[in-house]
Amino acid sequence: MRTQRQVVDYSLQRRAVLRDVRKGTIGTLEVCDASPYLRNAATYHGEPTDERCPICRRDNLTLVHYVYGEELKQSAGQARKLAELPVLAMTLREFQVFVVEVCRSCAWNHLIERYVLGRDGLSADDPSISEAMGLVSHRGEGRR
Ligand SMILES: [Zn+2]
Repeated sequence: MRTQRQVVDYSLQRRAVLRDVRKGTIGTLEVCDASPYLRNAATYHGEPTDERCPICRRDNLTLVHYVYGEELKQSAGQARKLAELPVLAMTLREFQVFVVEVCRSCAWNHLIERYVLGRDGLSADDPSISEAMGLVSHRGEGRR
């Protein structure tokens, strides 16, 4: 997505957890603890993937996108379909997205990445759009 920024990748942490599970220092019960809410979110708002669950290998992983930010008001903290995010990104100035992978069979879940979306990202990434929106005179003010 064009306004995506401040991406934080959690694949190292995920790999460390999976390594510990394989070694037996963490039990599968500890990592397969998706709440009923998260499992519901995976069912109704999740994005299917082709990746097999690393724990049970019975089901493919589903990605759930949680959105956070003041501008979201009462819908902050809710799961959104991936297709809804570009619309939100054009409507709101800034919000956080947390991407969680979930296995609907064994309840394995882990944070994959988080990033920021929203119109505020356009002024830095796409000068033509910031000009169109009359933001040119503000350019540079963000650098402190
Ligand atoms: Zn699984």
